Parts: sequence; structure tokens; C-alpha cells
Amino acid sequence: SEELIRRSEKLSLVGELAAGIAHEIRNPLTSLRGFMQLYVKEDIDGTNNLRNEVMLSEIDRINEIVSELLVLAKPSNEAYELRNVVHELIHVITLFEGQANLYNVQIKKDFDTELSLIQCQRSINQVFVNILKNAIESMPKGGEVVIQTEQINGKIHIRIQDSGYGIPQSEINKIGSPFFTTKETGTGLGLMVSMRIIQNHKGTIRIESEVGKGTMVEVILPIVTLSES
Ligand code: ADP
Ligand code: MG
Repeated sequence: SEELIRRSEKLSLVGELAAGIAHEIRNPLTSLRGFMQLYVKEDIDGTNNLRNEVMLSEIDRINEIVSELLVLAKPSNEAYELRNVVHELIHVITLFEGQANLYNVQIKKDFDTELSLIQCQRSINQVFVNILKNAIESMPKGGEVVIQTEQINGKIHIRIQDSGYGIPQSEINKIGSPFFTTKETGTGLGLMVSMRIIQNHKGTIRIESEVGKGTMVEVILPIVTLSES
């Protein structure tokens, strides 16, 4: 975990550079996609259907990578607001209801009853999205994700536990390095971006995993008590 944070500090500069490039790529990509769609529309008899579909989906793939990298640039200029972490988690869970259903994954909630307010940017949701997405993707045959929050000493511990395929010891140190992925269509950017966002929120992240049993990702964030706010 400390190793993870140290690595994410080293990644700061790389991240800013990557985000800068991503920003430059986005506009030409958007116009390219627009023209591509026009081209598809004009191909009325559909002779180039397959080729067109591949081109569009490849553009979308670049877009996905670029969007993930852009998150690295965002935090600096986004406003911090007081938010209830449980509300944010419930919102993120709602976003995944369809995908969870599709994969036969049950999402269980176990939230601390104490109010947990955090000072955060909207991008904090991206962290929960990335972790929950990984959890669901680790259970192609279905399973269970438990999302738990617990207040301990002025901090909120958010644990996302899956019953998926787990992470081998040899890979655990590579997680969060840019482009490290074991998935055929992964970007290997989700956890790197998440680590950056958590770092901006003065939080930490910890991963425990056992092959064949599952993975627990814990995010720890400082909470704001009402007397402070
Ligand atoms: P991506 O999901 O695009 O591969 P991430 O940065 O989100 O990129 O994750 C990097 C890698 O970490 C994944 O490819 C996977 O090998 C591993 N990983 C992350 N979360 C989990 C999880 N919950 N269960 C198993 N493996 C995981
Ligand atoms: Mg991911």
C-alpha cells in the first residue's frame, strides 16, 4: 500500500504528460468520428458495413483510452464539495445494476450508519466505478460483491470485496502501473487513475487478494465532522 502510493507519486508527472496528450488527441478524434458516421450513413447499400463497424469501434476504443487518461488532468481544476460517501456509493452501484445482472453478480451493501461526509471532487466516483468494474469483471461466471463502509478514527474505510479469480502474488506489484492489464480488452489505466484521484484526496488504497478466492480493495479517506464544516 505504501509502495502503491509511492509509485503513484512517481506517476504524477507521467500522468500530467499523458493527460496533456490525451487532451490534444480528443478534438481531432471527435471530428474523425463525426465524418466516419457521415460516411456510414452514405453507404446506403451497406457494402462496407463490416469495415465501417470496425473503424467506428476502433475510434471508440481510442476514445475510451483517451477519456481515462483525461481524468488525470481533471482533478486540479475541479471544485471540492462536501458529499456523503454512502450516497456516492449508492449512485455508483445504480450505474452497474445492468452489468451486474448480466454477469449474475449480486451487489451487497453493508454501510456504517454514522454519517460519513468527505470533502471531494466529483472524480471520486470514478474511483468507485473503476474498482467495482474490476470486481464484476473478475467474476465472469457470477458471484458476489460486498461493498462495506466503516468509520475508524476520523476516516472512512470503503471496502469492495469480490469472490472473483483473484490476483497472483507475482502480479500484485504491477497493478496500477500504466497499461498493466491481464484483460483482452483492458486499458490498464483504471487503477492508476484511481490511485491519482485518491492521492489528491489525501487518501490511501490497499489491495488484498487470493487466487481463486477473491480480491478486497480498500480505499481510506478522511471524513469531515459537521463541527469542522
Ligand atoms: P483493466 O481493468 O483495464 O485491466 P485496471 O487498472 O483497472 O485495468 O486493472 C489492472 C489489472 O489489475 C487488471 O487487468 C487485473 O489483472 C487486476 N485486477 C484489478 N482488480 C481486480 C480484481 N478485483 N480481481 C482480479 N484482478 C483484478
Ligand atoms: Mg479496470
